[in-house]
Amino acid sequence: MKTLKKFWNWILEIFFPSNLKCIFCGRDIPDPEVCYCEDCAEKLIFDSQKRCKLCDDVVLGDSTICDNCKSHHKNFDRAISVFPYIDIVKNVILRFKDSNAKYLAPHMAKLMFNRLRQENIDFDVILPMPLSKKSFAKRKFNQAQLLAENLSILCKKPIEANCFEKIKETKHQKELGFFDRQKNLNKAFKVTDKSKVLNKRILLVDDIMTTGATANECAKELKKYADKVFVITFARKLSNTKIKK
Ligand SMILES: [Zn+2]
Ligand SMILES: [Zn+2]
Repeated sequence: MKTLKKFWNWILEIFFPSNLKCIFCGRDIPDPEVCYCEDCAEKLIFDSQKRCKLCDDVVLGDSTICDNCKSHHKNFDRAISVFPYIDIVKNVILRFKDSNAKYLAPHMAKLMFNRLRQENIDFDVILPMPLSKKSFAKRKFNQAQLLAENLSILCKKPIEANCFEKIKETKHQKELGFFDRQKNLNKAFKVTDKSKVLNKRILLVDDIMTTGATANECAKELKKYADKVFVITFARKLSNTKIKK
């Protein structure tokens, strides 16, 4: 099995070497700093519609916050994402998570770092979204931790990976809406070392935000001790928009 994985990684490295090809489509790129090509860049733009000031979802009309944030209290202070969760982004996340393409982490983190700078979000400490013990055993690594470690290098901010845990195994959330997800996640997370988060401004890192229910539940627990909780994800599922595929 291990040999097969190694072989697969070797194949991936041929088609998607760490810094010469677009991370989305594998095409050659002139500037490895950008890490994706012009064609993909066009697909990756969020619609010109406004974004929610709290959760980064698309907002219709004149409002500054989205319907979900209006009807469900958000415990985090702000959540931002780099890209909409469209097919090419989904494929990169799948390669990163399920095909063990860990070389993507520094590129994804760099894009997250740029977005943080763009929004001027200041924080003291980085926390990866924790995985339950069962999920960790299955995947063998926490993709959020890998992103957080790379972000920590870029931001020059410490990472605390062992003070916040997912203590409850939760049902698969794919088919659930925000409210049911919230119920499913109740008391699933726990701060296990308060001293690491006390009065701190936390940056919680994950690969995808879907409804925001997980980030919200994490923030609820963290805010018992922390001063502020910001969330950054590589991708964001949007609710109110027709996005380009
Ligand atoms: Zn491309
Ligand atoms: Zn919102």
